[in-house]
Amino acid sequence: MLKYKREILKSNKKLDKEANKLLRGVWGSKAKVKPDTTRKKRIRKGSKRIPKKYNLYIKSKHWDKRKNVFWKKHERKCVICGSSGFINLHHIVYGNYGIEKDEHLVALCRYHHQLYHDTYKTKRNMEKETLEFICEQKELLEFPKFS
Ligand SMILES: [Zn+2]
Ligand SMILES: [Zn+2]
Repeated sequence: MLKYKREILKSNKKLDKEANKLLRGVWGSKAKVKPDTTRKKRIRKGSKRIPKKYNLYIKSKHWDKRKNVFWKKHERKCVICGSSGFINLHHIVYGNYGIEKDEHLVALCRYHHQLYHDTYKTKRNMEKETLEFICEQKELLEFPKFS
C-alpha cells in the first residue's frame, strides 16, 4: 500500500490510471470494472432532467437510482474500516450527475466521510486527496499511533 501511494503521488500524470487501479483494489475483486454498457443508455435517458447542482442532485430520485446501480455491484461497506452502518457514497469527482463512473464513487462510513471533508474540504476533483486519505486511514487502523 505504501509503495503504491508513493508511486501515485510522484506522478500526477499517471494518477488517473493508478488511482483507479488502487480504488478498485480497495473495493476488492468484485469491483473489476467492466465496460459499462448501460452508461450510454443512461446518458440518452433523461439526462436533461437530472439536476446540474449537486445540492439538488443528491436529494433527487436520480441519485437514488445511481446509488442502487452502484450497490448492486459493490459492497455496502466503508472501504477504510469495513463498517456497514451509515454508509455514504462519496463523490471522488463531481459532475456527470446520474452517470457517474463507478470509479468516481467510493463507499465511506459516516465517520470517515465526515473526517474526509473536514480534512480536505470539497473540490471538484478529489482523486488524489481521496486516495491519500484512504491509504492514510487504513495505515492508521493497521498501525495505530499512540499519543
Ligand atoms: Zn469507516
Ligand atoms: Zn464526500
